[in-house]
Amino acid sequence: MRLLLATTNAGKAKEIQAELRAAGVGDLEILTLRDFPGIPDVVEDQPTFGGNAMKKARHYAAQCQLISLADDSGLCVDALDGAPGIYSARYAGEPCDDAANNRKLLDALKEVPAEKRTAHFVCALALASPDKPLVVVSDYVSGGIAYKPRGDNGFGYDPLFVLPDRGLTTAELSMEEKSRVSHRGKAVRRLARWLLENPISNS
Ligand code: IMP
Repeated sequence: MRLLLATTNAGKAKEIQAELRAAGVGDLEILTLRDFPGIPDVVEDQPTFGGNAMKKARHYAAQCQLISLADDSGLCVDALDGAPGIYSARYAGEPCDDAANNRKLLDALKEVPAEKRTAHFVCALALASPDKPLVVVSDYVSGGIAYKPRGDNGFGYDPLFVLPDRGLTTAELSMEEKSRVSHRGKAVRRLARWLLENPISNS
């Protein structure tokens, strides 16, 4: 099956491809938006992670005439009523700046005690063919928000996101360790199970 990953992020594409293969979804020819320069962007204006993921998947599937997989993800903090949520990438404004987002988050939580700093990362993945939506899956990982950044791996809020049973931030894990427990790793494995049960083809 030819599958377009609706991302220009080579790292993310590599991770998704490796997870799908490891879960037994073989026979995949993966393309990314890097193979389709000039395709117009899509406005992510839906109220949910799943809605935004499906909007992206349908847009790129129609534009590129390929089955397309798109994701949308973010951090939801309980003490902030779920913020930054779908606005995670641009929490501190645009252009997106991870360090500024982390500073803003620490500031918003400065009066919040440890036991109330609970949060979860969410990842929605949507699959669409050129003429119709196919499926949306999502998963999450629970954790807490640290008082200061720790670790050099990962991206975004990883230096602040503590896994309670490990006592480590997700920025202190290797890519493989993070993928085993992360919202994205779990969502990709969920999608792999769906693909194994619902074989599709565009060739
Ligand atoms: P996107 O879905 O890749 O656009 O991610 C949205 C935003 O959510 C990112 O810019 C990060 O700020 C945050 N985010 C999503 N997943 C992660 C993660 O695994 N680690 C850290 N931050 C994340």
